[in-house]
Parts: sequence; structure tokens; C-alpha cells
Amino acid sequence: MPSRKADRVLAGLETHLRFLKEIGVEDVFKAPPPPARPVRTKPAGPETEAAMTAVREEILACRKCGLAAGRTQSVPGEGRTSTPLMFVGEGPGRDEDQQGRPFVGRAGQLLTKIIAAMTFDRGDVFIANIVKCRPPDNRVPQRAEVESCTPYLLRQIALINPRVIVTLGKTATEFFLPEVAGNMTSIRGRFYEWNGVQIMPTFHPSYLIRNEGDKVIRKMVWDDMQKVMSLLGRK
Ligand code: SF4
Repeated sequence: MPSRKADRVLAGLETHLRFLKEIGVEDVFKAPPPPARPVRTKPAGPETEAAMTAVREEILACRKCGLAAGRTQSVPGEGRTSTPLMFVGEGPGRDEDQQGRPFVGRAGQLLTKIIAAMTFDRGDVFIANIVKCRPPDNRVPQRAEVESCTPYLLRQIALINPRVIVTLGKTATEFFLPEVAGNMTSIRGRFYEWNGVQIMPTFHPSYLIRNEGDKVIRKMVWDDMQKVMSLLGRK
């Protein structure tokens, strides 16, 4: 009869293989993706939902910084107001600017797969960016743009009150953890406390795409997400 330790090893292997399958490494696992499990939190009250809608409407009308001039539309972020888990990236790209939704391009599709591998439904988390309008040619947002825009993100975080924020890439990580020096490889892999929220820095999905054949980076991201799953009681 298999031991409990063997069961745990097998379960860990299965989730890792499932993740690889989910993010496009097709040849290692034939099982279907895991079913999403419901997020058990109290729904946000009507006042909180109304406040979220108000933030969204302000963002849609905002012209506080120069990024307004080049956008098709701003991208406020989307997902559940009552969720333990947020993902924060850098800024909208071309697809997001066109659709008005965060993480819907190729990197977004990969993020959606990562979220599914974590047994969450995309609609059960909240996904946002540091700046809400697309920087020209997808350049890194400038300090003044970040300073103009992040009060919106901070208001969203205050209303959501998540347990964990996964920061995707350098720009998002630097905003929350300006004192933490180093490259992503050395920073990632552990939680940092920020205003009572646990921050987990990891690589941006577009970096995974740029390094498509690099299973080490994918494994690092999956290790980070497993820590998030453990903290949230998903495994
Ligand atoms: S990036 Fe932010 S601050 Fe700048 S115009 Fe868009 S919503 Fe307003």
C-alpha cells in the first residue's frame, strides 16, 4: 500500500505536470485541466461594489497623465471585488488597449492558464496593472505616470482587501517593494509583507513567452504559484 509520503510526492508531481500541460508543454500529461474550485469569501457588500464601480468610472474618464493621449481606452482591471488573490502587471498592451480588459493578449492567455492550473477561475481573482493606459510602444511606464495612476490601484486594493498580491514582473514588484533590490530570480520565491498583504513577486507571463523553451523559469513560476496556493489553502 502506498505511504502518505508517496501520495504527497505523487500529488506534487501531478500538479507540476498539470501546470506544464496548462502552460503549453503538451507532451508530458494527458489529463484534462483541473476543475476550478469556488472561492469561499463573503460577497462584497453593495457599498463596496458601488465604490469599485466609481473607481472604474474615474479611470475610464481619466486624463491625469500623458498616457491618455495615446490610448484607445483605459483598462481599469477586472475580476471579483471579494477575492483573496490579485495579480498586478505593468500596463496594458495593444490587445488590452483595444479591448479595455487586462491580460487578454498572448501573455494574458498564459496568465489565464496559470490561474486555471492554480484551480482558480479567472473570474474569481482580480487582475490589474500599475498604469491603466497603454504606454506607447509598450515602453516601461515613467515615474510620473506611475505616481499619477497608482492611487487608483491602491483604492482597488483597499476595497478588495486581498490576502495575496502576485506582482508580475519588475515594474509591479518595484512599486510594492521599492526597498527590495536585485533581479527577479533573486527576489522571487518568497512572500513579502506589504500593508498586511502578502506579496509574491514572480516573472511576467510575457517573459515566459520570450523564453518559451526555458523550463527552469516556468518551474520557478510554478513554485511561486504553489506557495500562493498553499497560503490560500488550495492544495
Ligand atoms: S495612465 Fe492612469 S493616470 Fe494616466 S491617464 Fe490613464 S488612468 Fe489616468
